[in-house]
Amino acid sequence: MRKRTTKTLLFLLSAALLTAFCLPAAAETTDRSTPPAWVVTVEGGPRENPITTPQEPEVPEKKDVKVPILLYHHITDEPFSNGNEISLISPYDFRLHMTAIKVNFTPISLRQYYDYVTCTDGSVTLPDNPIIVTFDDGYLSNYEIAYPILKELEIPATIFVVTDTMGAVAGEGQVNYSHFTWEQAKEMEDSGLIEIQSHTASHAALGEVSETDLVTELRKSKYEIEKNLGRECDMIAFPYGSYTEEVVAASHAAGYKLQAVVDDKTSEEDFEVNLPSEGVDGLTRMTIAGTMGNVNVIEIIRHAMAKKVIPISQQP
Ligand SMILES: [Zn+2]
Repeated sequence: MRKRTTKTLLFLLSAALLTAFCLPAAAETTDRSTPPAWVVTVEGGPRENPITTPQEPEVPEKKDVKVPILLYHHITDEPFSNGNEISLISPYDFRLHMTAIKVNFTPISLRQYYDYVTCTDGSVTLPDNPIIVTFDDGYLSNYEIAYPILKELEIPATIFVVTDTMGAVAGEGQVNYSHFTWEQAKEMEDSGLIEIQSHTASHAALGEVSETDLVTELRKSKYEIEKNLGRECDMIAFPYGSYTEEVVAASHAAGYKLQAVVDDKTSEEDFEVNLPSEGVDGLTRMTIAGTMGNVNVIEIIRHAMAKKVIPISQQP
């Protein structure tokens, strides 16, 4: 009898906890008849997306695990020119990289990392040797070349898209390389393997734009992603690694919970990895360039992981 009561109590308690903590955050509803949220905010103070002070959750000490985040861009066999090699890699090398990381690491999603870092009750764990794959800009090659490889190898990835150039076609004046469409984005997301997040509306260097443009870039891209994909957009990658304290504050206010930066390191010698105890603002990523194609990417990652991680609070 006593056992039964305990069981019932446990059940009720779990049900209460589940209700309290596990319901998905309600996605913003979007009504086409009213102006988008970012317009309202720019013109007359926030009515939707109210500016809230970000709350620092009390996070217990995290497992001291170093987490590398890789950053890819366009995948193509085109020869490199005009310094664009930083953002190109061949399909052959990309497949080699993905195979190598699948063998040497455990690929996890950026969402899983976020959940781990922000979890306060120890219920979210990380596997051994975690690694995260991301892409910036939203190139069609991500859909045509990377996505099938990622599916085959079951590697999750986050793609940060520039929302003004979704579906833009190369040669039509707007972009150098074609970008995937919202339909293709949706198809990738529906696989459960790919998550689409914001890389701003127009690929602006957020640290250099006006306050108004900053708010527009943050809120318009978030709005577009939520409207087209039907779920919350809460992560952003700052283009060019350009950001300031004001940018981070505005990003929080717009509803972004995780900020990734583009590593502007010129050499893989300078690459760094992330520590969960450092939170999810300004996550560092290693830009994997086509010129590294013949180098063992695993060695590059291991080299970065062997370095001491300097906590943000102690960085100059
Ligand atoms: Zn970019």
